[in-house]
Amino acid sequence: MQQLEKFSALGLSQKTISALVTKGFEEPTPIQAACIPLLLKEEADVVGKAQTGTGKTAAFGLPILEIVDPHVVEVQALILSPTRELAIQVAAEIESLRGDRDIQILPVYGGASIELQIRRLKRGVHVVVGTPGRVLDHLRRGTLRLDSLQFAVLDEADEILNMGFIEDVEAILEETPSDKRMLLFSAT
Ligand code: AMP
Repeated sequence: MQQLEKFSALGLSQKTISALVTKGFEEPTPIQAACIPLLLKEEADVVGKAQTGTGKTAAFGLPILEIVDPHVVEVQALILSPTRELAIQVAAEIESLRGDRDIQILPVYGGASIELQIRRLKRGVHVVVGTPGRVLDHLRRGTLRLDSLQFAVLDEADEILNMGFIEDVEAILEETPSDKRMLLFSAT
C-alpha cells in the first residue's frame, strides 16, 4: 500500500513523503489540502486564512521545499514573521520537513548576534525566516540578497501589520523580483 496516499495525491514527491513518515503526519489538514496543489502546480499567489495550529507552516513549507533548487545557493524563499519566537518556530518546522534535501534554512531576527547570521548567510542559505526589521538590516548591509527569490511569504500578516511593520515589509518587497510568488497568511 502506498504510504500517505492523501499527501501523494496533492502532488508531493516521494522524498517529501519519506520526511512526512518520519515526522508522523498521516493526512493533510484542510489548509494543506487546499494550498499544496495550488503552490505546486500553478503559478498562483495565495491568500489563506489560518490560525496557528492548523498546519499552515507545512502548507507553504512543503511546496517551498519541493520547488527550491538546492544546487542554486541563493535565497529562494523568504518568510516574514511578526516575532522572533514565531520565526524560530517556523524555521524549525520547515527544517523538520526537509528530510535529506540539502536545503539550508536560517532564522534571522533582532536581539541575536548579527555576525553569526552574516556568517551563515555567507556560507549559503536557501530559505530565510525572519522578522522584518532584521531582514531589512541585512538587506541594507548587503549581507542578504533577494534577486533569486521565488517565494515571499507573509506569515501572520495581520500581526505584521498590527505591529507597524508595513513600511519595512514594503521596503523588503521592493528588493525582490517582480515575478516571485506572494503568499499571505492571516488569522483574520
Ligand atoms: P502550524 O499550524 O503550522 O503551527 O502547525 C501546528 C502543529 O501541527 C505542528 O506541530 C505541526 O508539526 C503539526 N502538523 C501540521 N500538519 C500536520 C498533519 N498533516 N498531521 C499531523 N500534524 C501536523
